[in-house]
Amino acid sequence: MTSEQLSVAEQAAITSGSDFWHSTPVERPGEGIVIPAITLTDGPHGVRLQADSGDMLAGRPATCFPPAVASASTWDPELLRKMGEALGDECRAMDVAVLLGPGINLKRSPLGGRNFEYFSEDPLLTGVLATAWVKGLQSKGVGASLKHFAVNSQETDRMRVSADVDERTLRELYLRAFQRVVTQARPWTVMCAYNKINGVYASQHQWLLTEVLRGEWGYEGVVVSDWGAVTDRVAAVAAGLDLTMPGPADAGDKELVAAVEDGRLDPALLKRNADRVRALIENAATRQPGTYDADAHHALAREIAGRAIVLLKNDGALLPLPAAGDSAGKSVQSIAVLGEFARTPRYQGGGSSQITPTMLDDALTEITAATSATVRFTPGYGTDGAPDASLLDEAVGLARSSDVALVFAGSAFETEGADRDGIDLPAGHRELIERVAAVNPRTVVVLSNGAVLRTDPWDGHVPAIVEGWLLGQAGGGAIADVLFGRVNPSGRLAETIPYKLADHPSYLDFPGEHGHVRYGEGLHVGYRGFDAREQEVAYPFGFGLSYTTFEYGQASALATDDGIEVRIPVTNTGGRDGREVVQVYVSLPGSMVRRAPRELKAFASVPIAAGRTADVVLTIARDDLAYWDTRLGRWVVEGGEYHCAVGASSRDLRSTTTVDVAGDDARVPLTADSSVAEWFADPRGAELLGQAFATMTGTGAAEGDGGGPLAQLSADPAFMLFLGSLPIGRISAFPGSPLTPEALAKLIAAAND
Ligand code: BGC
Repeated sequence: MTSEQLSVAEQAAITSGSDFWHSTPVERPGEGIVIPAITLTDGPHGVRLQADSGDMLAGRPATCFPPAVASASTWDPELLRKMGEALGDECRAMDVAVLLGPGINLKRSPLGGRNFEYFSEDPLLTGVLATAWVKGLQSKGVGASLKHFAVNSQETDRMRVSADVDERTLRELYLRAFQRVVTQARPWTVMCAYNKINGVYASQHQWLLTEVLRGEWGYEGVVVSDWGAVTDRVAAVAAGLDLTMPGPADAGDKELVAAVEDGRLDPALLKRNADRVRALIENAATRQPGTYDADAHHALAREIAGRAIVLLKNDGALLPLPAAGDSAGKSVQSIAVLGEFARTPRYQGGGSSQITPTMLDDALTEITAATSATVRFTPGYGTDGAPDASLLDEAVGLARSSDVALVFAGSAFETEGADRDGIDLPAGHRELIERVAAVNPRTVVVLSNGAVLRTDPWDGHVPAIVEGWLLGQAGGGAIADVLFGRVNPSGRLAETIPYKLADHPSYLDFPGEHGHVRYGEGLHVGYRGFDAREQEVAYPFGFGLSYTTFEYGQASALATDDGIEVRIPVTNTGGRDGREVVQVYVSLPGSMVRRAPRELKAFASVPIAAGRTADVVLTIARDDLAYWDTRLGRWVVEGGEYHCAVGASSRDLRSTTTVDVAGDDARVPLTADSSVAEWFADPRGAELLGQAFATMTGTGAAEGDGGGPLAQLSADPAFMLFLGSLPIGRISAFPGSPLTPEALAKLIAAAND
C-alpha cells in the first residue's frame, strides 16, 4: 500500500494516534486492515507499557534500568548500548514498536525537573551515550524516539514557554547532541518538544523540523509530537510534524482534510508525512516477537548502576568496607544503616518514565547480606524528609555505638512537570548527617537524587560521600557492591556540583517569566560557565574517585584528515584493578570567536589492572572542533594551535599537548558594512584598502606620491583604534569623502573577486 492509494482522509488519520499509545490503523470495508497500528510507549530507562488497569502511568512490570542521570555517569557507551539492546528485547516481548527515548536535552540548570531523565550538561557526552543507546535498541528492530526536540531544558511552563536562545548556542549546545544521534544512529523517530524556540512552537517549527533536521542532517524518519504538543495541526503538518500523538484526533484529522480542500494546506505535504508514517509502520512490521530473561536484565541493571555510582569523597580510605569473610574485616564489627532511603529506595523519578519494576533491591538487605558485621537500622527522618526528633535521637544512638555509620539521604522527589525549588537536602536529611557525623567519625553519606544536590557545608563533616543518583531497580545491590569493594567505583560526574545555586551560570535566567526564558549564559552552560568565570565548585564536571590511583604519562597529539588523535599512557598505580575515565578537553587560545576555556572533545572508560599501563588513544572528530559561524551560516574549523588537555576531570588536567590544525576556508565576503579593521584583517582587503588609502588625498583627488593623509593615518595604531570599527560604507558617505561611492563599489567587487 502506497500513500497515493490512501485517500486524503486516510492520510490524515494515519498521521495521528488512535489512542494514547497506538497509531491509527487504516481499515477498509471489504479489505480489512490495510495498514496496521503500531505501539509507541515510554521510555526511556524501561518499557512502560500501560497496564490493563487503565491508569495511564501504571505500566506492566519491566526492568527499571538506571535513569539517564545515572547511566550517563558511567561515561561508557558500551554499557548504554547493552541497555539499549536489553530494552529492545523487552519491547519485542511486549510488542512495542517504538520506545519513547532517549531524552537528551541539556541540563541547563540544576533545577530542571527532568534532569534525572537527561544525560549531561555537555553535548558531546550526551550525544555519544545516546547514540550507543539508540544503536543498541534499534539493533533489535525496535525504534527509538529521540526527545525532546529541542531546547526543552525546564518544566516550568513547559507547554508554552519560549526558549530564547541565540543561534550559535543553539547549534553548538542545544542541537549538537541531536545532530550527532540523528546522523550517527538514525533514530526511527524524533519527538518534538512542547515548548517554543525563539517564539515558535517546536511542533510548528519549519526551520527546526524540516530545514535543519532533514535538510542539513539528512533525517529520513518520522517526527512525532510530544503528547499534546500540537496546537495547530495544519501548521504542524506543513512544518514537518508527521505523527500527532495521542489520539483519537478526529477534529484535527477533519481540519486537515478541510485545509487540503480549501487550499490552506498543500496536499503534497500531507502525503509526504503520511508516507513517512507508513514507512515507519512497515519497518516496524519486520520485528520478530521475543522474550527476555528478567534475572539477566536485573543483573545488567545492577552492573550499570554499579558503574554509575560516583565516589565523591573517601578520606582516609574509609571505603571500601570489609566484605563478609574478609579477614581484615575485624575492625568493622557493627554498621549503623540510617535513613529511610536504605530501606525504601529512591530509584527513579516521577512522570511518564516511571517504570513498574520486575523486582526491587534495597540497600539495607544487600548491605546485610554483604557483611559479617552486625547491621542495625533506623529510618532517621520522617517520610516527608522533615526532621523527626525521636528518629534522630535513635539514629545518633546507633551511630555512636557502631564502628561505621552509613547515612542514606537525598532529594525527596523529582518529577516531570515541575522544576525543583532548590538544590539543598531536605532539612531532616541534613540534620541526620550532621548529628551522626558529630558522634561517629567513620560516617559515609550515600546520596539518592535525580539532579545535583548541594553538599556544602555538611560535606566538611563527613569523610566519605557516595553519589548514588537514582539507580533503577537493582540500585540497592549496586550500592552494596561499591561500599564493600566488589565494584571499584568508576562513575564520573556528568554535571557540575556547585557550592551554591547562585553560582550556577543559569541562575539569573531560570526559569524565565511571562512566557519567555532567556538563555542568557549563552555558550557558557555548566562547566563552560564555571570555568569562564574561574569559579570554585564543590565537585567539577568529570570528577569521581576510585579505590585505586591512576598516573598519567605525557600526552601527544597528531592532526589527521579526520581530526585529532590523542595518545596518553595511563598507569594503575594502586593495588586494585580499576577503570579510569580519561577525558580530553580542547581549547584554542587566541581564537577569533568567544569560546569556553575548555570543552570536552573525547573520552574513554578504560579498564586497567593493578600495576598495568594502558596506552589510551582518543580520537576527536574534525567536526567536533568546529564552531558555528553566524556570519557564514555554517560550521567552521578555525585553524590554529589547539591545546588538548588530558585528565581525570575538567579540573584535574594531567598532561597538555598542542597540535596545529589547518582551518577551513572561512572567508567572509567584504561589504560596505565591513569595518576598516575587518578589511585590514583580510589579506586581500588589506592590500586593496591600503592601495586605495595611499592614493587618496582626503579631497577626493588622487595623490601622486602614494602617501596621502589616509594612508598616513591608517599607519598610526591610535588612529586605527579610533577608525577600526567604522564600516567603510560610512566613510564613503561622509561629505567630500575621498572614498567615493564608485570607488567603494569597485573596491568591494575587487575584494570579493
Ligand atoms: C513527555 C514525553 C513522553 C510522553 C508520553 C510527555 O508528557 O514529555 O517524554 O514520552 O509524555 O508519555
